[in-house]
Amino acid sequence: MPMHLYDSLKRRLEPFEPLVPGHVGIYVCGPTVYSEPHLGHARGPVVFDVLRRWLERQGNTVRYVSNITDVGHLTDDADDGEDKLARRAKLERLEPMEVAEKYFWAYFDAMQRLGVRRPSIVPRATGHVTEQIALTQELIDRGLAYEAGGSVYFDVSAWSAYGELSGRDTSELVEGTRVEVRSEKRDPRDFALWKRAEREHIMRWPSPWGEGFPGWHVECSVMSTKYLGDEFDIHGGGLDLVFPHHECELAQARGAGKPFARYWLHWNMLTLGGEKMSKSKGHVVDLATLFEQVDPMVVRFHLLRSHYRSLSDFADEALQASAAGLKRLRSAYASWPSRAGSGTPAEAWTTSRERFAAAMDNDLNTPEAIAVLFDVARDANKARDAGDLGCAAAARSLFDDLLIGVLGVDVVGASEHDHALLDDVVQLLLEQRQLARKRRDFAAADAIRERLADLGVTVEDTPDGARWRRQD
Ligand SMILES: [Zn+2]
Repeated sequence: MPMHLYDSLKRRLEPFEPLVPGHVGIYVCGPTVYSEPHLGHARGPVVFDVLRRWLERQGNTVRYVSNITDVGHLTDDADDGEDKLARRAKLERLEPMEVAEKYFWAYFDAMQRLGVRRPSIVPRATGHVTEQIALTQELIDRGLAYEAGGSVYFDVSAWSAYGELSGRDTSELVEGTRVEVRSEKRDPRDFALWKRAEREHIMRWPSPWGEGFPGWHVECSVMSTKYLGDEFDIHGGGLDLVFPHHECELAQARGAGKPFARYWLHWNMLTLGGEKMSKSKGHVVDLATLFEQVDPMVVRFHLLRSHYRSLSDFADEALQASAAGLKRLRSAYASWPSRAGSGTPAEAWTTSRERFAAAMDNDLNTPEAIAVLFDVARDANKARDAGDLGCAAAARSLFDDLLIGVLGVDVVGASEHDHALLDDVVQLLLEQRQLARKRRDFAAADAIRERLADLGVTVEDTPDGARWRRQD
């Protein structure tokens, strides 16, 4: 059975067949780089990193394109307000491109800590203005867009398929759209492909319609097809992007005669104690702060414990349950021998591998795949206790393959390594201090103790020898 994926456009599970067998092209909408990366940025990259790994596991070559929005994303997410980057640049007294660079790297650093591999291509909107102007012109030429006062708008009334992705009735859209004062749009549903730059606007490019900047939706229609072809396999994004962003992307691309994405995948939102995480409610958890308290691997593992189309809650208890679960898998893994001794041969876990594959092929059901791994851990521990080390070693290589390789969850635990190393180093210093005391070199012994105190390690001498603890 081929893998099945839920296609948001067809609204059903569909067997996944790449356009070119053995090659999969994926485009995922990336962040607008104008602020610190937060938890909301984490889910999509983690989910798609796993999808990519799983598709590669099936023998596919995957070209994974994920953009960076560094122009055109306005503060009201539609056609009004300030450019988000330009506003931040003003606040931080930086060039807009300095803002983009700063948060671009902050984003990728955070993704790296989550074990997310770099995309094959990371196109930036500002690097593709020429192509965005060309698409805008193409839509004008085809009678689907019009110029008004130096801006260009997509004419929604000329494109009857508009609304097909979000399932919105276009008459509803008219009522739902805020009526803008002094709007140049012929119809309030129309959206900007190109915006005229007002005098104070910093980011601006020459165009056939005067100086301006591209609308937010155009970049993705342009950059996805530039690197993946006019028709490509998978387009991903958060559920909050279905409308208007993806609806507009689809209209622009198909309006210009491109078949565009064959499967649309959308991940659901994150909640905090059941409430939607949102900036306006101050619920945003920035990743740098979170990683000070929680191992990034726990965050990744937690994200994968819910299906990508379900809500994922980040209340403390939920996160702690994931931390405890991952700890169980880690200590099981650490207790299994890395080389098979005598006992059950390596093909011991065939059924578990099949169950894992079936879960992954069923619309990337990672919670079910993880449940299989918990079963393996339990059974392999029993085998270990019964002295069947061959079976336990086979479980270890299964974890190497599926938990580390496919789900990208590192069970070795870098922080545990660090802690173990720290313990050993402190122990070594205490031994040296003991030797110094034996040869009555008290100055050296005291110096070691004082230096350790500076580093936050308290040493106490007891009748049973020196003890140490970390200061809180
Ligand atoms: Zn996009």
